[in-house]
Amino acid sequence: MICEVLVEIKAKNIDKTFTYHIPDNLNDKVEIGKRVLVPFGNRNIEGFVLNIDKKKDLSYQIKDILEVIDKEPVLNEELLELGKLISKKTLCNLISCYQVMLPTALKAHKGIVIPKKFISYLELNGNYGDIINKLTSIKQREIIKVLYEKNLVEKKICLDISSSAVKTLLEHGYINEIQKEAYRLNNDEQVLEKRKQLTSEQETAINIITAFFDKFMPFLLHGVTGSGKTEVYMNVIAKVLNRGKDALVLVPEISLTPQFVSNFKSRFGSRIAILHSGLSDGEKYDEWRKIIRKEVSIVIGARSAVFAPLTNLGIIIVDEEHSATYKQENNPRYNAIDVCLFRAKKYNIPVVFGSATPSIESYTRAKEGIYTLLELKKRVFTNLPTVKLVDMKNEIRKGNKVLCEDLLYKLNECISKDKQAIILLNRRGFSTVLTCSSCGYTMKCPYCDIPLTFHKSSNSMRCHYCGYSTSKLAICPECKSKDISYLGMGTEKLEEWINENVMGAKTIRMDIDTTSRKGALNKIVDSFKDKEFNILIGTQMISKGLDFQDVTLVGVVSGDASLNIPDFRSAERTFALLNQVAGRAGRGTEPGEVIIQGFNIDHYSIVCASKHDYKKFYEEEISIRKKLKYPPYCNICLLKISGKNLENLFTEANKIVKYLKTNISKVIILGPSSANVPKINNTYFVNIIIKYKKVNDIVDNIKFLKNRYITNKIINLDIDFNPNQI
Ligand SMILES: [Zn+2]
Ligand SMILES: [Zn+2]
Repeated sequence: MICEVLVEIKAKNIDKTFTYHIPDNLNDKVEIGKRVLVPFGNRNIEGFVLNIDKKKDLSYQIKDILEVIDKEPVLNEELLELGKLISKKTLCNLISCYQVMLPTALKAHKGIVIPKKFISYLELNGNYGDIINKLTSIKQREIIKVLYEKNLVEKKICLDISSSAVKTLLEHGYINEIQKEAYRLNNDEQVLEKRKQLTSEQETAINIITAFFDKFMPFLLHGVTGSGKTEVYMNVIAKVLNRGKDALVLVPEISLTPQFVSNFKSRFGSRIAILHSGLSDGEKYDEWRKIIRKEVSIVIGARSAVFAPLTNLGIIIVDEEHSATYKQENNPRYNAIDVCLFRAKKYNIPVVFGSATPSIESYTRAKEGIYTLLELKKRVFTNLPTVKLVDMKNEIRKGNKVLCEDLLYKLNECISKDKQAIILLNRRGFSTVLTCSSCGYTMKCPYCDIPLTFHKSSNSMRCHYCGYSTSKLAICPECKSKDISYLGMGTEKLEEWINENVMGAKTIRMDIDTTSRKGALNKIVDSFKDKEFNILIGTQMISKGLDFQDVTLVGVVSGDASLNIPDFRSAERTFALLNQVAGRAGRGTEPGEVIIQGFNIDHYSIVCASKHDYKKFYEEEISIRKKLKYPPYCNICLLKISGKNLENLFTEANKIVKYLKTNISKVIILGPSSANVPKINNTYFVNIIIKYKKVNDIVDNIKFLKNRYITNKIINLDIDFNPNQI
């Protein structure tokens, strides 16, 4: 008997299976989808069994499988199939596709063992009366009584009564110790049935989705901020569970706050598994096993939760479907949206994509009838907030460099009324550029050629791309002048300014710098919710999912900053960001106000955001996409070529362009050109963009290029189909 095993050999980038002999003693244990230990070269490595041939024996000598690692397959039939699909779509190695689906504990990596967690319990060993009569110690008798009343008691509780008594009782055999497996994340939440009154729009959406329960049907749920999309999700899920089926819910990592999760838990109790990158390897392993063991029927998670091994799916829900985080930014560069569509089709079920600002591609699909459009146009409690745009050119003439007159006034007013405010500035750190006023020298990262950002709290200059950090300058290294100025403003400086200029301000800041420690984000959210602070300052992190009833004012500093990024999606991103952050205002019973300041406030993305007019924005944007031939009017394949020698890179990139132009017709090829961030950590990046209609027109040539560069040690070629950023 032989089998085919897929192993990971990183250095050689090999993607093929190897044949091994199954020794008689392992015959019963080897199964497709299980991990096995096999000899490879002069070492032993783990791999996945992909095929078994019971009859075949080869004439030549092959090596034996050494060990079968799993009791149950870690890759079920569906995951095996999904891996192949992703490998085909992304041109990434099959083994990497399988590895990315699984929690660390179940990946094929030799040596990583995640222990299960056990809890010790105590129970009586014999008749209560017999035992109690033999004992005189008060503490010992107390423990025996507790065990008699409750049958099984956690050892910890008995140790608190008296550890020496427990020890003696165990030694004399009056009680037994039992080990029980426990999950690291506990879900013993109470179900609080506080069903909300549904709006008629919500009810309509729920009824339509429900009518298609046994059909593959993608829905686009376009609901303005505060229109109660989550309530629609939960009602649909409740109906799915009643039919004995499971639900998969995807949300962007950042919206997966305890607030969001506890909403679900108070509705559905403990039947929920949570999967996101903030969990420890042990926690992820436990959550995964709850799903395999069918102890849960709802899985809520970020991107990779799309692979949750639910086998009885009844609905898939993707919240904030426009979010860039659904696309993995490194290999395998899969898009979770595609995986959702694939799984929904397989199970013949509806999939609901929800958003207040649908991606241009999704809305086009809805217009073309590929998705069914559902709309929530009204907020549940109040009207949408009023938005005012302020041109900073005029304000600067008046001497207002940081906040405009209006925002400063409203901020003071908001605080005096004991309400809360959120201020968005999508730039972290203190100052963004440090320059010499005498000679114009700018302090840049020596590895990335990008200006360093000054961080006041650590008194250091830092590179946001490679992490390089150095002390700040006192003297210009070029002209020795001491006249050094800090230009630009980040969240750190804004916070300092607000504290100096707004009476009674109690500020808290939320950006990568303040939230990198585990649990820090939740702490900020909770303390702001508890009104320990009245102003929340942050980067785009604060724009999504947060629901604070007392926030009546939202201010946006540099609302046009993201328009300056040279990417065809920058207008779409600007609209989405402004719309989302504006949506944080007035979610309670009081109306909200939003002030957006910037230098380029006449841009259609900003004007439409200020009017909450998605449709108008869509019309403007789609006409530009059509004119310039960008998605959805074409697909994009980005070839990212990187290496240490820039000249070399361009020579090679030009060869690639020449090859593409000779071998592919019907496509538009742009480049080679330096990437937006041309150098990171001493590595240069050069882009070639291919605009194409059908993947079949280009895929063979791209595969050819991939194989040609796979072993090249000097030049690296990265392939990204429909990238998020170019
Ligand atoms: Zn100088
Ligand atoms: Zn750097």
